[in-house]
Amino acid sequence: MFESRCGVCCNSCDRKEQVNCKGCLEMKLPFWGGECKVKACCEEKTLDHCGVCPEFPCEMLSTMGVDQGFDPEPKLRQCRIWSEENR
Ligand code: SF4
Ligand code: SF4
Repeated sequence: MFESRCGVCCNSCDRKEQVNCKGCLEMKLPFWGGECKVKACCEEKTLDHCGVCPEFPCEMLSTMGVDQGFDPEPKLRQCRIWSEENR
């Protein structure tokens, strides 16, 4: 079962309670304010998650958070897993 649009595993995030985050699928806007462009893009296309997008893995998804030191690979890998599980 997928837990986010981008491949982040919200249910096992240990900061979820701490920052009062409802998780990607439940929230309209991210708890940090503003908009998540990946979430918005995915939902505009009415896709469950990026793994089922014909443009996967697009530039936006692959570079999200990289400038803040986050490795995009686990998210991309998770999207592929969710995509396989859905077949
Ligand atoms: S980064 Fe965006 S798409 Fe990923 S879990 Fe957070 S809100 Fe959802
Ligand atoms: S893979 Fe890229 S283009 Fe496709 S829904 Fe995700 S963010 Fe949008």
